[in-house]
Amino acid sequence: MIGAIDVRDLVGRYGTWKSEQVSGTIDDLATELAGLSEDTPVSGELVLESLAEGILASGRLQGALSLRCARCLKEFEQGFSVELRELFVPFPHEDSDEYPLDPEGFLDPDQMMRDAIGVELPFAPVCRPDCRGLCARCGGDLNLGECTCTEADIDPRWDGLEALLHEWNQLTGDQAPERGPERTGKG
Ligand SMILES: [Zn+2]
Ligand SMILES: [Zn+2]
Repeated sequence: MIGAIDVRDLVGRYGTWKSEQVSGTIDDLATELAGLSEDTPVSGELVLESLAEGILASGRLQGALSLRCARCLKEFEQGFSVELRELFVPFPHEDSDEYPLDPEGFLDPDQMMRDAIGVELPFAPVCRPDCRGLCARCGGDLNLGECTCTEADIDPRWDGLEALLHEWNQLTGDQAPERGPERTGKG
């Protein structure tokens, strides 16, 4: 949880600014294979600047993502760093991308951080570019040589399939001429 930032000293005083350290956790921000690391808080420094329209928050956040490899399902962590630059206004327009600024003079960066980090979550993380994944037959990790399937295990299946294909080709091949112009000889 990252609390709201007190910006009462900035509101209405255009041109003034201050910087604020933020650090904390953000709950329930995860996809099937990616989320925020529970061990590493999100942290960063925000510069808050008073403008006529509201408060401009900019800065950079860093933290760690907890990911599961889409190929081998291994869990791993990966650092991230994301840049922010968002405007907080008292009454954001519905279809604008501005964030609400509490009229009392508090700015809650939670939703902004969620949005910024959310787009960093990969749909299909891979533990390393050349991850070989799991064997589709035995489920063994091919990176660790866990697969016990041998060529001999696989060959008979292919043989069977090949024979079937051959049979099928012959069948359809034989039938093909009969599907030509239908002349039943009754003419
Ligand atoms: Zn992997
Ligand atoms: Zn295998």
